[in-house]
Amino acid sequence: MIIYDLECEIGHRFEGWFKSADDFQAQNDSHLISCPLCESATIKRVPSAHYVKASNQSGNQSTTAPIPSAESPAEFKHWLNALRHHVKNSEDVGERFSEEARRMHYGEADKRAIKGQATTEQIQSLHEEGVDTLSLPDFLLTDKNKLN
Ligand SMILES: [Zn+2]
Repeated sequence: MIIYDLECEIGHRFEGWFKSADDFQAQNDSHLISCPLCESATIKRVPSAHYVKASNQSGNQSTTAPIPSAESPAEFKHWLNALRHHVKNSEDVGERFSEEARRMHYGEADKRAIKGQATTEQIQSLHEEGVDTLSLPDFLLTDKNKLN
């Protein structure tokens, strides 16, 4: 399964799950995908925010943010705030995300935590090269709705 960030013609953002890129294309061509808010079937894909943190030992990037145990709401909030902290302190490389992640992977750039914009194609090709990235929900990129 792949997840695409989608946007309808008036700008509602939502996620769609598809078997493959071809599956998305076929469904979209047939106008089978509609916005959950306004039911518009004019849908386009949008780049989504991604995050990668380098691992120093192996030379491979990996997402080192703590994994949520979700055993209690308190633990989940703790994890979420920790992840938000990681993201806030990472370098924003914007649209150079996939380029920088790749350079770090191959040792051409300093290993560090970065965040930025990438298309699904860019992320897929990074994953094929063994670079792990984490797709970020928008709320992690701001302090606005920090959980207390
Ligand atoms: Zn809509």
